[in-house]
Amino acid sequence: NGMQSLKEHLYKVLVIGDLGVGKTSIIRRYVHQTYSSNYRATIGVDFALKVLNWDSETVRLQLWDIAGQERFGNMTRVYYREAMGALIVFDVTRPTTFEAVLKWKEDLDSKLMLANGQSIATVLLANKCDQGREMTNNGIKMDQFCKEHGFVGWFETSAKENLNISEAANFLVKHIMATE
Ligand code: GDP
Ligand code: MG
Repeated sequence: NGMQSLKEHLYKVLVIGDLGVGKTSIIRRYVHQTYSSNYRATIGVDFALKVLNWDSETVRLQLWDIAGQERFGNMTRVYYREAMGALIVFDVTRPTTFEAVLKWKEDLDSKLMLANGQSIATVLLANKCDQGREMTNNGIKMDQFCKEHGFVGWFETSAKENLNISEAANFLVKHIMATE
């Protein structure tokens, strides 16, 4: 039976960024197709699994959702272990969360690299784009920023309106597969 020889991939993907940027909401939207505006901070780490049919193969994305305040704690090194990709999220309504993006990227790259010495594929998410697009459209030069700082790309997302989340995840998977 040919089905049994189909390839399966399991990828650990980190979802990181400051508190309140929408990490948990993005994962809920992506995995459970739900959204709630009731704020409830994540305690510790949450996991969610998204299964994708990828051509004739299966991709299992294990999404790791951490509480935002743990950025510089000792926990991150353990948390990052064996991740294959990352989504770094900021909130387009709060510029300080964009400033924090580089701290997250540096933290990640200083604690984790692939066997070949390269950093893991990382996509930048400008979340809550339903709230306005000034920051990404007129403010920061996002393409240039990504190039300079080693992000493979960026997406405007909205967990609220279900915009671009699966597109961003697919884009990340493509890059993970290319580096695997
Ligand atoms: P986390 O701390 O990064 O996990 O952030 P949460 O997912 O808990 O979201 C923080 C708050 O932002 C919640 O009240 C969410 O409902 C809200 N939120 C998350 N994503 C969006 C979005 O795309 N648009 C809007 N308008 N609000 C969002
Ligand atoms: Mg959370």
